[in-house]
Amino acid sequence: MRTPPYFVGIDVGGQSIKAGVVDDLGKPQSQVDVPTEAFKGQEHGLAQMAVAAERAIAAAGLSVKDIAGIGVATPGTMDIPAGVILEPPNLRPWKNVPVRAYIQQRLGRPTTFQNDANAAAYGEYWVGAGQGARSLVLFTLGTGIGCGIIVDDIIIEGAHSHGAEVGHVVIQMKDGRMCGCGQPGHLEAYASARALVKQARHLLATTPKSTSLRKTAIMETVQQAATPEEEETLDARHALLVFQAAAAGDELARALVDEAAYALAIGAVDMMHTIDPDRIIFAGGMISAGPAFLERIKKYIKMHAFPVPAAKTEVLYAALGNQAGLIGAAGCARRAARGGLRAASA
Ligand SMILES: [Zn+2]
Repeated sequence: MRTPPYFVGIDVGGQSIKAGVVDDLGKPQSQVDVPTEAFKGQEHGLAQMAVAAERAIAAAGLSVKDIAGIGVATPGTMDIPAGVILEPPNLRPWKNVPVRAYIQQRLGRPTTFQNDANAAAYGEYWVGAGQGARSLVLFTLGTGIGCGIIVDDIIIEGAHSHGAEVGHVVIQMKDGRMCGCGQPGHLEAYASARALVKQARHLLATTPKSTSLRKTAIMETVQQAATPEEEETLDARHALLVFQAAAAGDELARALVDEAAYALAIGAVDMMHTIDPDRIIFAGGMISAGPAFLERIKKYIKMHAFPVPAAKTEVLYAALGNQAGLIGAAGCARRAARGGLRAASA
């Protein structure tokens, strides 16, 4: 059973481009992966996006005329209204890439363009852990922390396409740890999978404390020249070692997990006191840590938020896994085609 009209979502990552047809109820009808091969240049990258879309349409048994709209999501930096990627660190050496115009011209269908973290948030808003809510903040915990904010079906892009970068809010003003972006004290430097692993290694190297982490693979050095996706997988796997040790009662691992949970709670409370969303949602490799981690975050949120939002804001894990970006990108195309999430279709 599938429900037309159909939309194509394209989720561009550093290593691979995922594309899929999604029906009007948000159900994926196909999914294909093609390599991004960013190093081959942006013309090649654009062609790969189109190839991914064409294969996804064929895999769903449809032709391009059956497609009501296409949504593309990519990492930043970007100019969202212009439909252009500016200078993406994950897609070197691309520069000023006219993604929306290219895809729209090549496939001949209306095309929308969005930041990948925003698209993931929109996917969860449409048919995931945010379904039915008016507003949400999504934190995706990986090598970095991606974030998306949706309020009343509006994606908070910001005036300069740099809105919702909550991984880079300052949570430590004095002697803050250095963030991947080059500024100190950001949330990402305390609560991403990479931050957790980095801090674990730092403690193992600087304290004589006995901990089961010493016997694990966490001390294996990260391979050089790893692709962003390989780094993501490796960081998630190493972070999981910390969570497992914590669950088994290891004191040092518990302190590390507690610190990450506390940092995330502070980031969440900052957002609760800014926009007061219905839901705060956590996604990414780190949520495989399971319910204990979420309970820890919730405990600190309750301690630090105003009483009413502390009691009423739902805090939960995401539901769509790594399909959130693709579904959300298609959701953005659907939203553009019908003039809103809940507007009647034309
Ligand atoms: Zn930062």
